[in-house]
Amino acid sequence: MMDVATYQLLDGRRCSEALKTRIAHEAAEVKAARGRAPHLAAVLVGDDGASRTYVEAKVKACEAVGFRSSLIRLSASTTEEELLALVDDLNRDAELDGFIVQLPLPKHIDPDRITLAIDPRKDVDGFHPVNIGRMVLGQKEGFLPATPRGVCELLTFYGIPTAGKHCVVVGRSNIVGTPMSILMSRNAEPGNCTVTIAHSRTRDLAAITRQADILIVAAGRPEMIGADMVKEGAVVVDVGIHRIEDRSRKSGFRLLGDVRFAEVAAKAAWITPVPGGVGPMTITSLLQNTLKAARG
Ligand code: NAD
Repeated sequence: MMDVATYQLLDGRRCSEALKTRIAHEAAEVKAARGRAPHLAAVLVGDDGASRTYVEAKVKACEAVGFRSSLIRLSASTTEEELLALVDDLNRDAELDGFIVQLPLPKHIDPDRITLAIDPRKDVDGFHPVNIGRMVLGQKEGFLPATPRGVCELLTFYGIPTAGKHCVVVGRSNIVGTPMSILMSRNAEPGNCTVTIAHSRTRDLAAITRQADILIVAAGRPEMIGADMVKEGAVVVDVGIHRIEDRSRKSGFRLLGDVRFAEVAAKAAWITPVPGGVGPMTITSLLQNTLKAARG
């Protein structure tokens, strides 16, 4: 007998397109009201291929919704002081609503020092401690980190119930796992989950992930989650993204997530693809944050 797929796709591209239509409409309103479209700048230090792709995708997304965008490329030898001076200029630029400094930075630059230097009102990545603090306290005026916000938008778009569910987040980074766990446990929609955070020191990970009604994986380990680690009927969100060399492709690589899609999809009720799941949602969240910054 042939396997009949019962899962449904949490399609980040489809959700993004729907949200972007609304963002474009609101961007036009902002432009009409103040005579200037929302404006996002992205700073790229060095020439990492994946980072360049992400930044270019962000700039392209701005154009598609009628934002102004600026891409600032700096050489890998840029010093921390030079980057801090640029951040200072961008903080003061009255024509700019928000900006991001693409991570990772070259080893000689301390990312925490850079993040701390960004004006929280322009920190549309939502990484500044002030914005993280506002998220933890549930204050609405801050910016939520783009990737966890994108996951929340995706769950909302597909009407996934979260209240009272057990959500397991694999990974505890400052930009994905930790904020994701906070958003899922907040008294909000989506939210109200009982949350477990698993990480590199967790014992018997499979025993924990198998308890998840909602499993969000951001471990940065290609295809680490197999069907044996997932409960029947779970909602599975794969944040991981890895470029794996593939000479048979024109690009020279293919993309894999942290989840073995085919085998997990056979068990899951809902699952994100890679690519086309969380990736587009991260970019759309950045646009939403920039629009919020432009509205002041
Ligand atoms: P990170 O390396 O900073 O953090 C990984 C986390 O996973 C750590 O907290 C670690 O404790 C945990 N971990 C590692 N190995 C583990 C294991 N075997 N078992 C359990 N936990 C383990 O990574 P990050 O910045 O949080 O990103 C995670 C993944 O998400 C990466 O693949 C990254 O490329 C991807 N990512 C995607 C997007 C997107 O828009 N799709 C955005 C950000 C990050």
